Amino acid sequence: MTAQILIIEDEVSIRNSLSLNLELDGYEVTACADAYQAMEQFQSRQFDLILLDIMLPGMSGIDLCAHFRLTDRTVPVLMLTARDAPEDRIAGLRTGADDYLTKPFHLEELLLRIANLIKRQPKAKQMADPSGNDVYSFDQYKIDFSAFEAQTNLGLVTLTKKEAALLRLLIDREHEAISRQQILHIVWGYEVAPSTRTIDNFILNFRKYFESNPRKPKRFHSVRGFGYKFTSR
Ligand code: CA
Repeated sequence: MTAQILIIEDEVSIRNSLSLNLELDGYEVTACADAYQAMEQFQSRQFDLILLDIMLPGMSGIDLCAHFRLTDRTVPVLMLTARDAPEDRIAGLRTGADDYLTKPFHLEELLLRIANLIKRQPKAKQMADPSGNDVYSFDQYKIDFSAFEAQTNLGLVTLTKKEAALLRLLIDREHEAISRQQILHIVWGYEVAPSTRTIDNFILNFRKYFESNPRKPKRFHSVRGFGYKFTSR
Protein backbone atom coordinates (compact mmCIF):
# COMPACT_ATOMS: atom_id res chain seq x y z
CA MET A 1 0.00 0.00 0.00
CA THR A 2 1.16 3.51 -0.74
CA ALA A 3 2.40 5.29 2.35
CA GLN A 4 0.45 8.44 3.22
CA ILE A 5 2.34 11.55 4.22
CA LEU A 6 0.91 14.68 5.78
CA ILE A 7 2.95 17.82 5.09
CA ILE A 8 2.45 21.03 7.06
CA GLU A 9 4.44 23.93 5.62
CA ASP A 10 3.24 27.50 5.16
CA GLU A 11 5.79 28.56 2.55
CA VAL A 12 4.09 27.73 -0.70
CA SER A 13 7.23 27.10 -2.77
CA ILE A 14 8.68 24.65 -0.24
CA ARG A 15 5.28 22.99 0.24
CA ASN A 16 4.84 22.46 -3.49
CA SER A 17 8.36 21.22 -3.97
CA LEU A 18 8.03 18.77 -1.06
CA SER A 19 4.70 17.47 -2.36
CA LEU A 20 6.04 17.02 -5.85
CA ASN A 21 9.20 15.23 -4.80
CA LEU A 22 7.49 12.94 -2.33
CA GLU A 23 4.88 12.02 -4.93
CA LEU A 24 7.67 11.28 -7.40
CA ASP A 25 9.17 9.03 -4.74
CA GLY A 26 5.93 7.04 -4.59
CA TYR A 27 4.14 8.54 -1.59
CA GLU A 28 0.62 9.81 -1.40
CA VAL A 29 0.78 13.37 -0.10
CA THR A 30 -1.67 15.65 1.69
CA ALA A 31 -0.26 19.16 2.00
CA CYS A 32 -1.52 21.81 4.44
CA ALA A 33 -0.54 25.45 4.89
CA ASP A 34 -1.38 25.78 8.59
CA ALA A 35 -2.03 23.91 11.81
CA TYR A 36 -5.80 24.11 11.59
CA GLN A 37 -6.02 22.49 8.16
CA ALA A 38 -3.59 19.87 9.39
CA MET A 39 -5.72 19.03 12.45
CA GLU A 40 -8.74 18.46 10.24
CA GLN A 41 -6.79 16.14 7.95
CA PHE A 42 -5.26 14.36 10.93
CA GLN A 43 -8.70 13.65 12.42
CA SER A 44 -10.15 12.44 9.16
CA ARG A 45 -7.65 9.65 8.43
CA GLN A 46 -4.51 7.71 9.22
CA PHE A 47 -1.08 8.86 8.06
CA ASP A 48 2.18 6.92 7.92
CA LEU A 49 4.32 9.98 8.53
CA ILE A 50 3.94 13.66 9.35
CA LEU A 51 6.40 16.19 7.95
CA LEU A 52 6.05 19.28 10.04
CA ASP A 53 7.54 22.75 9.73
CA ILE A 54 8.11 24.39 13.12
CA MET A 55 7.55 28.00 12.08
CA LEU A 56 3.87 28.18 11.21
CA PRO A 57 1.44 31.08 11.43
CA GLY A 58 -1.06 30.98 14.31
CA MET A 59 0.05 27.82 16.05
CA SER A 60 3.63 26.57 16.12
CA GLY A 61 4.71 23.19 14.82
CA ILE A 62 5.73 22.30 18.37
CA ASP A 63 2.22 22.82 19.77
CA LEU A 64 0.79 21.05 16.74
CA CYS A 65 3.03 18.06 17.38
CA ALA A 66 1.83 18.03 21.01
CA HIS A 67 -1.75 18.01 19.70
CA PHE A 68 -1.03 15.00 17.45
CA ARG A 69 0.63 13.15 20.33
CA LEU A 70 -2.44 13.49 22.55
CA THR A 71 -4.21 10.90 20.45
CA ASP A 72 -1.49 9.22 18.41
CA ARG A 73 1.68 8.12 20.18
CA THR A 74 3.28 6.30 17.29
CA VAL A 75 2.89 8.07 13.94
CA PRO A 76 6.42 9.18 12.94
CA VAL A 77 6.88 12.96 13.03
CA LEU A 78 9.79 14.56 11.17
CA MET A 79 10.27 18.24 11.96
CA LEU A 80 11.79 20.92 9.77
CA THR A 81 13.61 23.57 11.77
CA ALA A 82 15.77 26.60 11.17
CA ARG A 83 19.48 25.88 11.28
CA ASP A 84 20.15 28.48 13.95
CA ALA A 85 17.42 27.46 16.40
CA PRO A 86 18.66 24.53 18.52
CA GLU A 87 16.03 25.34 21.17
CA ASP A 88 13.32 24.54 18.59
CA ARG A 89 14.86 21.16 17.87
CA ILE A 90 15.01 20.35 21.57
CA ALA A 91 11.43 21.48 22.13
CA GLY A 92 10.34 19.45 19.12
CA LEU A 93 11.99 16.27 20.31
CA ARG A 94 10.61 16.76 23.81
CA THR A 95 7.12 17.13 22.39
CA GLY A 96 7.40 13.79 20.66
CA ALA A 97 8.94 14.41 17.26
CA ASP A 98 11.01 11.41 16.10
CA ASP A 99 13.56 13.23 14.01
CA TYR A 100 14.34 16.66 12.60
CA LEU A 101 16.04 18.19 9.63
CA THR A 102 17.36 21.74 9.45
CA LYS A 103 16.51 24.04 6.56
CA PRO A 104 17.86 24.25 3.95
CA PHE A 105 18.11 20.49 3.56
CA HIS A 106 19.21 18.08 0.85
CA LEU A 107 16.28 16.36 -0.77
CA GLU A 108 18.17 13.07 -0.79
CA GLU A 109 18.64 13.22 2.96
CA LEU A 110 15.00 14.08 3.55
CA LEU A 111 13.84 11.13 1.45
CA LEU A 112 16.17 8.76 3.32
CA ARG A 113 15.02 9.94 6.71
CA ILE A 114 11.39 9.61 5.69
CA ALA A 115 11.94 6.10 4.34
CA ASN A 116 13.73 5.09 7.56
CA LEU A 117 11.02 6.44 9.82
CA ILE A 118 8.27 4.72 7.87
CA LYS A 119 10.16 1.42 7.73
CA ARG A 120 10.84 1.37 11.44
CA GLN A 121 8.26 -0.64 13.30
CA PRO A 122 6.19 1.54 15.55
CA LYS A 123 8.02 0.81 18.74
CA ALA A 124 6.03 0.56 21.90
CA LYS A 125 6.27 4.02 23.35
CA GLN A 126 6.58 4.74 27.03
CA MET A 127 3.64 4.10 29.32
CA ALA A 128 2.48 0.98 27.51
CA ASP A 129 1.87 -1.86 29.97
CA PRO A 130 2.14 -5.59 29.14
CA SER A 131 -1.50 -5.79 28.09
CA GLY A 132 -0.66 -3.32 25.34
CA ASN A 133 -2.86 -0.71 26.93
CA ASP A 134 -1.74 2.85 27.29
CA VAL A 135 -1.66 3.15 31.07
CA TYR A 136 -0.14 5.72 33.40
CA SER A 137 0.11 5.24 37.16
CA PHE A 138 1.00 7.55 40.03
CA ASP A 139 0.31 7.26 43.78
CA GLN A 140 -2.58 4.79 44.08
CA TYR A 141 -4.16 6.02 40.86
CA LYS A 142 -4.19 4.61 37.38
CA ILE A 143 -5.23 6.20 34.09
CA ASP A 144 -6.01 3.95 31.14
CA PHE A 145 -5.83 6.16 28.08
CA SER A 146 -6.96 3.41 25.71
CA ALA A 147 -10.10 2.66 27.71
CA PHE A 148 -10.77 6.27 28.81
CA GLU A 149 -10.99 5.05 32.39
CA ALA A 150 -9.26 5.94 35.62
CA GLN A 151 -8.95 4.46 39.09
CA THR A 152 -9.69 7.44 41.32
CA ASN A 153 -10.76 8.44 44.83
CA LEU A 154 -14.32 7.97 43.57
CA GLY A 155 -13.63 4.49 42.21
CA LEU A 156 -13.47 3.70 38.53
CA VAL A 157 -14.55 6.70 36.45
CA THR A 158 -14.98 7.20 32.73
CA LEU A 159 -12.99 10.06 31.23
CA THR A 160 -14.25 12.23 28.41
CA LYS A 161 -11.98 12.60 25.39
CA LYS A 162 -11.08 16.12 26.43
CA GLU A 163 -10.33 15.08 30.01
CA ALA A 164 -8.05 12.34 28.72
CA ALA A 165 -6.37 14.78 26.35
CA LEU A 166 -5.74 17.34 29.09
CA LEU A 167 -4.40 14.68 31.46
CA ARG A 168 -2.12 13.40 28.73
CA LEU A 169 -0.79 16.90 28.01
CA LEU A 170 -0.09 17.65 31.69
CA ILE A 171 1.53 14.25 32.23
CA ASP A 172 3.65 14.44 29.06
CA ARG A 173 4.94 17.80 30.24
CA GLU A 174 5.39 16.91 33.87
CA HIS A 175 7.07 19.71 35.91
CA GLU A 176 6.33 22.21 33.15
CA ALA A 177 3.83 25.02 33.68
CA ILE A 178 1.40 25.15 30.77
CA SER A 179 -0.63 28.27 30.17
CA ARG A 180 -4.40 28.17 29.84
CA GLN A 181 -4.02 29.59 26.35
CA GLN A 182 -1.64 26.84 25.33
CA ILE A 183 -3.98 24.22 26.78
CA LEU A 184 -6.84 25.63 24.70
CA HIS A 185 -4.62 25.58 21.61
CA ILE A 186 -3.35 22.05 22.00
CA VAL A 187 -6.39 20.27 23.42
CA TRP A 188 -9.18 22.06 21.56
CA GLY A 189 -7.27 22.90 18.40
CA TYR A 190 -9.41 24.38 15.68
CA GLU A 191 -12.69 23.64 17.45
CA VAL A 192 -14.57 26.53 18.97
CA ALA A 193 -12.61 26.95 22.16
CA PRO A 194 -14.50 27.00 25.47
CA SER A 195 -13.68 29.66 28.05
CA THR A 196 -10.61 29.14 30.20
CA ARG A 197 -13.08 28.54 33.05
CA THR A 198 -13.73 25.12 31.49
CA ILE A 199 -10.10 24.22 32.02
CA ASP A 200 -10.33 25.29 35.65
CA ASN A 201 -13.31 22.99 36.09
CA PHE A 202 -11.44 20.07 34.53
CA ILE A 203 -8.63 20.64 37.02
CA LEU A 204 -11.09 20.76 39.94
CA ASN A 205 -12.34 17.35 38.84
CA PHE A 206 -8.82 15.97 38.49
CA ARG A 207 -8.11 17.07 42.05
CA LYS A 208 -11.21 15.25 43.28
CA TYR A 209 -10.08 12.16 41.41
CA PHE A 210 -6.36 12.17 42.05
CA GLU A 211 -5.52 14.21 45.16
CA SER A 212 -5.65 12.90 48.73
CA ASN A 213 -6.66 16.43 49.74
CA PRO A 214 -8.19 18.31 46.79
CA ARG A 215 -7.92 21.58 48.72
CA LYS A 216 -4.17 21.18 49.06
CA PRO A 217 -3.15 19.78 45.71
CA LYS A 218 0.21 18.05 45.46
CA ARG A 219 -0.11 16.77 41.89
CA PHE A 220 -2.23 19.24 39.91
CA HIS A 221 -0.70 22.61 40.76
CA SER A 222 -2.08 26.04 39.93
CA VAL A 223 0.46 28.47 38.55
CA ARG A 224 -1.03 31.80 39.53
CA GLY A 225 -2.19 33.98 36.66
CA PHE A 226 -0.80 31.50 34.15
CA GLY A 227 -2.02 27.94 34.10
CA TYR A 228 -1.30 24.51 35.52
CA LYS A 229 1.45 22.03 36.18
CA PHE A 230 1.49 18.32 37.01
CA THR A 231 4.01 16.52 39.19
CA SER A 232 3.78 12.79 39.92
CA ARG A 233 5.82 12.97 43.14
CA1 CA B 1 7.38 28.08 7.95
